[in-house]
Amino acid sequence: MINAKLAAQSHSDHQTVVKLSETVAFGGEELVIIGGPCAVESWEQMETVAQELAATSVHGLRGGVYKPRTSPYAFQGLGEEGLAILAQVRSLYNLPVVTEVMSISQIEVVAAHVDMLQVGSRNMQNFDLLKALGQAGKPILLKRGLAATIEEFVMAAEYILSHGNPDVVLCERGIRSFDNYTRNVLDLGAVAALKQITHLPVIVDPSHAVGKRELIAPVAKAAVACGADGLIIECHPVPEKSVSDARQALSLADMANLVNSLKPVATAVGRTISEPMGVGSQPAPIYCAA
Ligand code: PEP
Ligand code: MN
Repeated sequence: MINAKLAAQSHSDHQTVVKLSETVAFGGEELVIIGGPCAVESWEQMETVAQELAATSVHGLRGGVYKPRTSPYAFQGLGEEGLAILAQVRSLYNLPVVTEVMSISQIEVVAAHVDMLQVGSRNMQNFDLLKALGQAGKPILLKRGLAATIEEFVMAAEYILSHGNPDVVLCERGIRSFDNYTRNVLDLGAVAALKQITHLPVIVDPSHAVGKRELIAPVAKAAVACGADGLIIECHPVPEKSVSDARQALSLADMANLVNSLKPVATAVGRTISEPMGVGSQPAPIYCAA
């Protein structure tokens, strides 16, 4: 029995809907697909990603500017320069943006630039960060800790909810096990359980779960089939040149094909993936930042 007063589902049709923008929401009949690189690398990279994804059924952009890297010598993210890039592509292409916050001190500036704040797997039990995000004034994408039980995951969400923020989306991104052929082990049982135990939207990150681009499409389909409310997937204009997580990055063409291939799966389980609004309906880029 999980003692989550606020996250627990009180009755079977109790489902919270979390708005990402005026037109995009997690937890309704429509699935939400977020795409983008592991890390924001440059204006040109993000502009290409936004331009191509805006023509598909992708509803939001991702891209890390504060990167939790295993090695302190690895690329740590562009920081505020990256936030400015995200804010610019966001408004040029009318696509909402999610990016990670690693510390309390980053919350204010990140919240001023993007639509949703991500708590990474490594920070799922950073309780002071979770408490502070209760007051962030933006929806939170809470990723499951790499060795967190379902109960620990739900209670992490409870921290954010109990500190004043009702807009929490859970993200299953795989957990550690003995097998290292895949980067992590995608726990689809947890997706089904979280949908039953809580009223919060649950999405799946197949990229960090499997860690290999050729495995992403089949597990993404399985995630939709088992009731996920959306997906967050890494893709890059030149996948093998990604500064981080290159092995799991899809090309933008593969990302577009994957999203299309998810549509019949969504239909089969009573969900929908909206049609692209069309490039013509997107505002034309008017200038480029240096
Ligand atoms: C990410 O989404 O870029 C990321 C680092 O994921 P995770 O925290 O799930 O490892
Ligand atoms: Mn990544």
